[in-house]
Amino acid sequence: MTDLATVTRLLSDLIGFDTTSRYSNLALIDWIEAQLVPLGGHPIRIENSEGNKANLWVRFGPDLPGGLVLSGHTDVVPVDDQDWHTDPFSMTEKDGKLFGRGTCDMKGFIALCLAFAPFMAKRPLTRPVHFAFSFDEEVGCQGAPLMIQKMIEAGARPDAVWVGEPTLWQVVSGHKGIMLTEVVVTGREAHSSLPQLGVSANWEAVDLLSALRALERDLARHTDPESPFDPPYPTLTIGELQGGTATNILARECKFLFDLRCPPGFDPDAILAPFIELAARTDKALKAKYPECGVRVKKLTNVPPLTPGEHNAAEALARALTGDNALRAVAYATEAGQFHQAGMPAIICGPGSIDQAHTPNEFIDIAQLSEGVTLFQKLVARLN
Ligand SMILES: [Zn+2]
Repeated sequence: MTDLATVTRLLSDLIGFDTTSRYSNLALIDWIEAQLVPLGGHPIRIENSEGNKANLWVRFGPDLPGGLVLSGHTDVVPVDDQDWHTDPFSMTEKDGKLFGRGTCDMKGFIALCLAFAPFMAKRPLTRPVHFAFSFDEEVGCQGAPLMIQKMIEAGARPDAVWVGEPTLWQVVSGHKGIMLTEVVVTGREAHSSLPQLGVSANWEAVDLLSALRALERDLARHTDPESPFDPPYPTLTIGELQGGTATNILARECKFLFDLRCPPGFDPDAILAPFIELAARTDKALKAKYPECGVRVKKLTNVPPLTPGEHNAAEALARALTGDNALRAVAYATEAGQFHQAGMPAIICGPGSIDQAHTPNEFIDIAQLSEGVTLFQKLVARLN
């Protein structure tokens, strides 16, 4: 069966495609499809509205409900302003590690899928095995929902979804949900010596930010001592904040983005309701002064949480193959939450450490891929 050298060669090929989320992933999708179709895989592409990115869903085995999904995202985070010692899009081996953007998050898992596809295809499959490769995961899991919708429409209804995000092959059965919100406050420019002649978007934003700060301080109150999450309560952070152009001009625009991460059982909309109300009141008050002023709140993403401890088929399979029986939950969101919400039981388990994801000089230990070869051999042997 497949050896480590095949996996490494495929990973090197995958790293060679610069699939930073802002670019098209179609060259990579073409390449993957060209490997899988000759093996008998049945491909379906699900494109974004602009037609420059696509999810690739490939089915092996019969067109029936049930079966297994192996899922991974094809996009990677940017390398801008990061201090790389090697070309991030040309895989480099050194000291038992493979360096390159996406080696860990998460083309290593895709390389394993591709390396083992010929052997999966040869199994006498009575239930399907699906590959689900998505786009735009790194910008808020925006691609996968289209593919999940397509699966539902096609009646695929898999029993188990295996999302190969980097977990050092530990079985992660829970993650928080993430809601990402953008707020744009529009004011009216005037000389800063005459503030009565305009509206400072920055001052208005400060009031809104203070309200968020109060909400954020309140969240830790919701600590659940039994929770497997760290920290064991919802968190709210303001990741971006920009406003104004000069010290002597009232800011015309102030924009900020915040993320709210909730463990299962919390309703992010309910938590944010007082803030949304304040924003609407402020918007009305500003528009009454000058029609061009106001506050715009835009929900960018809302990735649902993955609920741990549900003991489903995905978890049972991953535990049987890895031998990891610990209950693990993480604070980052993945497509697993989206599959889970759609009624498809999902777990996260894959090669490499999340510590190396998104960093300059991202790498994967070759030992992690080698462990993957052993795991996939066991997986293939179980497919029927
Ligand atoms: Zn990832």
